[in-house]
Amino acid sequence: MAGALKVLLASSEVVPFAKTGGLADVAGALPQALEELGVDVRVIMPKYASVKLKENFGKLGKNVKVYFVENDGYFARPQLYGDKFGDYKDNLDRFAFFSRQVLERAKQENFRPDIIHCNDWQTALVPVYLNTLYKYDPFFASTKTVFTIHNLAYQGLFPKEEFPKTGLDWSLFNIRYFEFYDKMNLMKAGLVYADLLNTVSPTYAEEIQTSEFGCGLEGVIKTRRDSLSGILNGIDYGAWNPETDNKIFKKYSSATIGDKYANKEMLQEEVGLKVNRSIPLIGTISRLADQKGFDLVAAIIDKVLKMDVQFVLLGTGDNKYHVLFEKIQKTHAKSAAIFLKFDAILAQKIYASSDLFLMPSRYEPCGLGQLISFKYGTVPIVRQTGGLKDSVTEFDPSTGEGSGFTFTGYEAERLLAAVKKAVSTYSKKEVWAKLVKKVMGYDYSWTRSAKDYVEMYERAIEKR
Ligand code: ADP
Repeated sequence: MAGALKVLLASSEVVPFAKTGGLADVAGALPQALEELGVDVRVIMPKYASVKLKENFGKLGKNVKVYFVENDGYFARPQLYGDKFGDYKDNLDRFAFFSRQVLERAKQENFRPDIIHCNDWQTALVPVYLNTLYKYDPFFASTKTVFTIHNLAYQGLFPKEEFPKTGLDWSLFNIRYFEFYDKMNLMKAGLVYADLLNTVSPTYAEEIQTSEFGCGLEGVIKTRRDSLSGILNGIDYGAWNPETDNKIFKKYSSATIGDKYANKEMLQEEVGLKVNRSIPLIGTISRLADQKGFDLVAAIIDKVLKMDVQFVLLGTGDNKYHVLFEKIQKTHAKSAAIFLKFDAILAQKIYASSDLFLMPSRYEPCGLGQLISFKYGTVPIVRQTGGLKDSVTEFDPSTGEGSGFTFTGYEAERLLAAVKKAVSTYSKKEVWAKLVKKVMGYDYSWTRSAKDYVEMYERAIEKR
């Protein structure tokens, strides 16, 4: 191929400009790793109120251009997708507009991408537009699309009456493309039209072909299985590294691990827990959604906190979990510290200060919390699903093999058994120290995953 590979990555959230979850981390970090590999990559996202720049462009990494799509009526809002009353009512208008602008802006900037890399339902219309409204547009004659599923449970479902808002011909509203149980489904159409598909871990790529994890789209995905791959996310060690992290109380490395425990004591102090480094501290940072397994946590928390363990949770999401954790905070005022908000700084402190990181997800496309935890010497307790299964293996205290504490069946008793094993292992000081040191040495940087993406882009270009 002549010249550098040209990629336009479209995402509805990108760190550091806007974030609700892991998609933003990926969209902020992958382009920087691609840049390092010599790809000419640009990023495009909506200009939300959280984007403080005056211009309609920004920058990531050394020189990755970020194009902001402006439309104050749609995007200058405090939240990205909805507020406490639920999803914004005009999300279809907002993201159909954004998807059109992905193509229009590329033309305005005279950036002819080899690949448009779309992510989740918010950009699922891009491959559709490219193959319909822009099918004969010479500007995109050699542009291919890649679609990444970060979470199949969020599909962009809208009442079929709203279909005309897409600007597409009604003939596309049929069972092959948009129609889905009497609604319209943006993700479905994106999955059909994109040249190649991937998801964010090899195990999740298998799981979504089953009725248990396929969220009703398993049939569509199975028909495209030859075009589907799984690429585990990396994390951005520029942002997540206890040796350079300015947001934690005290920087540390595996050579100065005592300072991790200094962080722990300072967090205990700050959040009102008993200051004592020998009490195991379990941390959780998460969206509070059914996906994340908090019904299991609720079922065992009384038993866990009877064991001389401390629990700190940072999360926001479904109201029922806010109610639940407020109650837990009241019952366990001494051993639990609950923060029901989004707070990037507190998050780093919790990763740094905790001994264990709890992630008992029902399903988990990749999961970043366990990878971030490794880097901070915080050992994950996870359910064996999706990316958690691909990154955490059961620790065996007798051989020292494995990297965390795991369970398989989605049952509270199994989670409790994993927590008990973790807590008892924590009390074996030498075994624990070795485990912490080992997980801190893992390399989940983006470099390897970015190479897999480049390979996928090249495969997409060769198609047809
Ligand atoms: P998901 O994308 O399903 O939310 P991931 O594990 O892939 O889950 O990514 C979650 C990311 O969001 C991590 O970087 C995590 O630290 C961060 N995060 C989640 N909830 C909060 C919160 N309340 N405050 C700060 N960061 C949070």
